[in-house]
Amino acid sequence: MSVLITDSCINCDACIEVCPVQAIVGGDENPTGEDITYVKPEKCIECVDHAGVPACATECPTEGCIVWDMPYIAEYNDHFVNNSKYSIRVHKSKGVMSPEVSPQPFRDDISIAAREANEAVEV
Ligand code: SF4
Ligand code: SF4
Repeated sequence: MSVLITDSCINCDACIEVCPVQAIVGGDENPTGEDITYVKPEKCIECVDHAGVPACATECPTEGCIVWDMPYIAEYNDHFVNNSKYSIRVHKSKGVMSPEVSPQPFRDDISIAAREANEAVEV
């Protein structure tokens, strides 16, 4: 990751259409089993090289609904693996697509403190 969708989400699905890597799914496809819109952290690239700010947050009508999460890199493997907030895809041959196995790009201009505090993505 990544970004997180919080419980202020109204499930309008507007963000799903604009994600350049199809990282967002509606509640009916949420792999955690929760019936809420969900960002797959193993797919989210924080829109690096696609947009100046995360496209999902630009599209979202609910202020402060989309917040920063930790970078999807090996250093934060434990944050994403074996955490009930997430359900990371299991690849047939590679196994769990954890940050150690498949790190993703992230915005290094967003501080770790802002990510730990789940600050809202500003647009
Ligand atoms: S930040 Fe970009 S890549 Fe990540 S979920 Fe939002 S739209 Fe998709
Ligand atoms: S655009 Fe915002 S309110 Fe709509 S589903 Fe996505 S996160 Fe939820």
